[in-house]
Amino acid sequence: MQFSDLGLTPDLLRAVAEKGYDTPTPVQSKAIPAVLAGGDVLAGAQTGTGKTAGFVLPLLQKLGAAVGRSPRVLVLSPTRELAAQIGENARTYGRYTNLRTQVIFGGVSERPQIDALRNGCDLLIATPGRLLDLVGQGALDLAAVRHFVLDEADRMLDMGFIHDIRRIVKILPVQRQNLMFSATYSQDIRDLAARMLRNPVEIEVAPRNSTAERVAQVAFRVPKESKRHLLVHLFRNGATDEGPWYQALIFTRTKHGANRLAQQLEGAGIRSAAIHGNKSQAARVRALADFKAGRIAALVATDVASRGLDIKELPQVVNYELPNVPEDYVHRIGRTARAGSTGRAVSLVSNDEAGLLRDIERTMRQTVPITPLPAFEIVEVSRPSASPANRAAPAPRPARHGGRPGSRSHRFGRSRPNRNAS
Ligand code: AMP
Repeated sequence: MQFSDLGLTPDLLRAVAEKGYDTPTPVQSKAIPAVLAGGDVLAGAQTGTGKTAGFVLPLLQKLGAAVGRSPRVLVLSPTRELAAQIGENARTYGRYTNLRTQVIFGGVSERPQIDALRNGCDLLIATPGRLLDLVGQGALDLAAVRHFVLDEADRMLDMGFIHDIRRIVKILPVQRQNLMFSATYSQDIRDLAARMLRNPVEIEVAPRNSTAERVAQVAFRVPKESKRHLLVHLFRNGATDEGPWYQALIFTRTKHGANRLAQQLEGAGIRSAAIHGNKSQAARVRALADFKAGRIAALVATDVASRGLDIKELPQVVNYELPNVPEDYVHRIGRTARAGSTGRAVSLVSNDEAGLLRDIERTMRQTVPITPLPAFEIVEVSRPSASPANRAAPAPRPARHGGRPGSRSHRFGRSRPNRNAS
């Protein structure tokens, strides 16, 4: 199937072609015609499947041209980063239209957002709290909304947004199209869908473990106190002696743990930054930009902060600590292996986490091979951060494509047998 088969206008097709997409992803092939047809949609699709274009493209088409001052499409997103990314996508796909996209989220000053809304908005992407604040102040009118998207609904509920969602839905006009995207289907999600959606078209494109299948997963059994030394070793030598890592996204369970690990890695000469909910929006944006630009090698994140991050060609994800909820593991490792590429997830599992690993394996219906520990040095880190002269920039980015022996697909592909698996 081609994008041109989906009934999109030439303006949108041109923007899609310039973005470099050849063929629609499965969620796009199914969601775009369903959204264009005008009914409600319930889609089981996680980040990395191309779901954003799956709803943004047909909604831009339904909007047509700029009208009035108040938004006609409202997209709710659980995090500021995801909201910003959806906004970026909407502006890219809508570049040959005159439609106006605005993004509002908390943690930054309200004034510029209020001013931007005054200039007119067709498509609004918002996090729930800031949306309700601005509606409460009379700075935003939702009476013109005809299309409502709840993105990452499962994460919205995990983050405790259910009451905000209910309040927002009550404010919206009754006559509207509703789209709901969720990576997982708990009973709570089913209940919310039953209340919010009318005869939805159901789209299931990403069975829960499809990401997991594309990601080569390995685990090291390692005492808690040795984890940071092993991680430094992995950055310097790779997990299977493939050479230094260019970059990794590393998950910790707590904000404090993320800060501490980022400092420890810096102390060992690995450029690092932490992102989590206590960091200012400016600091989070800067860390993400530094990581995307290759200025830092290690981005240490908590689950909430990482949600929806779209980092191209991220070769590996490290579970420095396993998450308590197996679904979070699937979300985490979905940060690599985006849109069909392959990647690797490395878990550092201490004794007290063995039960968590079993829960994860049960949920994924897949075992995660335990790899024998490499010999690694205990690198004592006394200073919180080394002087710039001692810090290593990321190793040179390895070639991504082509079949030469050093390429990522060659090294990390699923077909590669895990010689060390036990
Ligand atoms: P999403 O699931 O919406 O977060 O998208 C994941 C990634 O896939 C983003 O980097 C998109 O730019 C990319 N993407 C979306 N649609 C396509 C497509 N049809 N072909 C190739 N890449 C795509």
